[in-house]
This record gives sequence, structure tokens and C-alpha cells, in this order.
Amino acid sequence: MSIDMLTIPAQCVTESRISQLDINNIEFGKLFSDHMLVVDYKDEAWQNPEILPYGNITMSPATSALHYGQAIFEGMKAYKDANGDILLFRPLDNFRRLNISAERMCMPAITEDIFMQGLEQLLRLDAAWVPPTAGCALYIRPFMFATDDFIGVRPSSKYRFTIFSCPVGAYYGQPLKVAIEPNFVRSAEGGAGYAKAAGNYGAALLPARKMQEKGYHQLIWTDAKEHKYIEESGTMNVMFVIDGKLITPPVSTTILKGITRDSVLTLARDLGYPVEERKVAVDELVEAHKAGTLQEAFGTGTAATIAQIATIHYDNTDMELPAIEGRKISNHLATELDKIKTGQAPDPHNWVYRISL
Ligand SMILES: *Cc1c(COP(=O)(O)O)cnc(C)c1O
Repeated sequence: MSIDMLTIPAQCVTESRISQLDINNIEFGKLFSDHMLVVDYKDEAWQNPEILPYGNITMSPATSALHYGQAIFEGMKAYKDANGDILLFRPLDNFRRLNISAERMCMPAITEDIFMQGLEQLLRLDAAWVPPTAGCALYIRPFMFATDDFIGVRPSSKYRFTIFSCPVGAYYGQPLKVAIEPNFVRSAEGGAGYAKAAGNYGAALLPARKMQEKGYHQLIWTDAKEHKYIEESGTMNVMFVIDGKLITPPVSTTILKGITRDSVLTLARDLGYPVEERKVAVDELVEAHKAGTLQEAFGTGTAATIAQIATIHYDNTDMELPAIEGRKISNHLATELDKIKTGQAPDPHNWVYRISL
């Protein structure tokens, strides 16, 4: 089936809920746009995709995703440009990554037709929900879960794939205070850390809360074997600037391959900054901080694009980093990436997927 041949039937709302949206005061993750895509997998095939009014789903208490965790998701954003076109950022990369997660969790791959056409039709229907305001976006949540009502442990034979969305305001996150995690692990070699699997998030909540109780916004994960090397920061990839070089741990089975991470590294190389993808030892950060060469630290992810890190705690010491305003590389990359995403700068890597209404 080609993209042109598949037109997903839509059951539209009789009355939009858009009047409930206060564009100047968007609360994250609470108000959902009018429609959702729903498609079920059974008899070894995805069947009858539909667009329905956003709403609750009923399910059996035995639904296997709830017990054994076959559940994966993606997160992406749509923006509006000056002409009112909807711009998606690298949606095919989210599609591919969803299927990488699916493979790891023993779930079926979604087809490109259903993913991309579902997304496009949904955005055309819910175009009014993409905020035109600078910094705001429509956050899109594609996800898949196992739907067998069977309590034995085995891969489900039935699944549901859904896409829904919600408007989000500008990310005015304060600079983060983070702490290097000495005990808990998010992910180990051979595990599922590279998949966007629901359970990875569930298992990270307790360590994150413990760090919050100590006064830090989030933690920096270290490797499962020795707690010696930096992995990620909370649910973001993490990067450092040491002595003018942009440095980040390489992707592996333990580190999620962030699309923002790849975009930031690509852009940095385009702009001529030295980039190193290599292991970053905790000791290296401590030494660089002592020597005054730890210039910048930040997380990368769809929610914030670049989330500046002000303080890194390790071994009873708060390492304070230089002021955010003076961070040449990350501020430059954040501005450039934002311009590409919103159609205000040339897009040499064809990252933007444009939907003209
Ligand atoms: C989603 C995610 C990221 C960031 O990925 P993006 O594609 O940049 O949004 C990083 N780490 C983890 C663990 C994630 O789940």
C-alpha cells in the first residue's frame, strides 16, 4: 500500500474543544486535541486504521501491556510557521525509532504508511491545535501497547497503535541542578535502555524522586558496571563543552539515540565546532571543573531542545558551572536548531516535514 492509496477514514468531532485552550497559559499534558489515530494489530497485520474523537479506551483487566510491559512510545513536536504551514521535525526518525523499540520489546513494526499518513491526516484535522505562538508547539505522542487479554507470559498476539497530541507552551525551564547517580542504574549493556519503552521510565521514577528530595532537579545516570562513565541526564541525552570541544557519550545499547542529540551534533559539525563522541568519565568532569575547562553542560531532548545544566553534584560537592548567558556553543546551537525547526533558517539536511494546509 502506498501513501497515496491509504486514506484513513475519520470520524470527526461535532464540536471542537479548542475554546478550552488558553494559548497564553498552556498547561503541559492536560488538554488534548480533538482527534486520535487508532489502529489494531491482529492476525499478524495492522487492520483498519481510523481517526476518532479523542477519548477513553476500555480494556480487560488482563490486558497484557498492564502486566508485562509491552508498551513503547515516541515524542515529537509540530510547529506553525509564518504562513500557517505545519512543520514536523524529523518525523521519519521517530517512526524508525518506534520500530527499533518495537523489535526490542518483541512487538510488531508499524508501517510507514500508517504512521506518516495517520500523522499527516491527524494534523490536518487538528491544525487549529498547533499554536502559532513562538516557543509553543503541538506535542505528539505515538505509542503502541499489547492488548491480549491473557495472563500468561508471552508476547501478545494483539496490539494497538495510537497517536494523540496536546499543545505545549514554551519551555522556560530554569537551569538544572543535577546530581551524578552513584547507585541506581537506568540501563545495562544488553538491556533495553536504547528502546523508548514505558518500563524504563517507571523504573527511573524512584531514583529521580530521591534526587529531588536532596534538592536536585534530576540525576545523571552512570554506567551499570562501575558508575564511572556518564550515560544520560534524566530522560535526556547529555553533552559537555570541555576546553572548547563538544563532548557526548556515544550511543550504545544503554543510551537512547536521541533525535535532538543527533541534530545538535550534526549542526555543531556544520558550524565547525570540534565534536567528540566518546566515553566521558565522571573523573574527567571533576578534573575539568577543577582546571576551569568545564565550560558548558546541557541535556538534549524534544521537550526542551537544550536544557542548560547550572550545577553538577558529585561526591558531596556541587560543581557550579559558568553562567548560562556566556555559553557560546550551546546557546548558538539552540538558536540555530530552533530556527530550522520553525522554518526561519535553511534546512540543508531536510529535517523539516512540511504540511501545507
Ligand atoms: C526520548 C529520550 C531522549 C531524547 O530523545 P529525542 O529524540 O531527542 O527527544 C533521551 N533519552 C531518553 C532516555 C529518552 O527516552
